[in-house]
Amino acid sequence: MSLKITEECINCDVCEPECPNQAISMGETIYVIDPARCTQCVGHFDEPQCVQVCPVECIPVDPDHTETPEQLMQKYLHLQEQAQTRNRAA
Ligand code: SF4
Ligand code: SF4
Repeated sequence: MSLKITEECINCDVCEPECPNQAISMGETIYVIDPARCTQCVGHFDEPQCVQVCPVECIPVDPDHTETPEQLMQKYLHLQEQAQTRNRAA
C-alpha cells in the first residue's frame, strides 16, 4: 500500500528529504506522495521514514492503493532498475 498525506499536513518540509524513493513532493497546497513511487519504504527501511519524522502524524496508508508486501518489493526493484538505467544514460 502506498501512503498518503492528509490535509493536516503543516508543510514542515521534513519528510521530503527522508524518502528513499523521491516519492514526496510539494503539491498545490500541501505535500503529496506519488503512489507509483511509494513502497512504504520496503527495500530500504523497516519502517516508513516519512511516518517516523512527521510531527503531526498525517501520513496514513492510502486505501485506494492497496498492495501486498511482494508487490511493494516488485515496485522497489522496478524503481532500482529505472535508476540504474538513468545512471547508465548519464
Ligand atoms: Fe517515501 Fe517511504 Fe514515505 Fe513511501 S513510506 S513516501 S517510500 S518515505
Ligand atoms: Fe506534512 Fe508531515 Fe511531511 Fe511535515 S512531515 S511536510 S507535516 S506530511
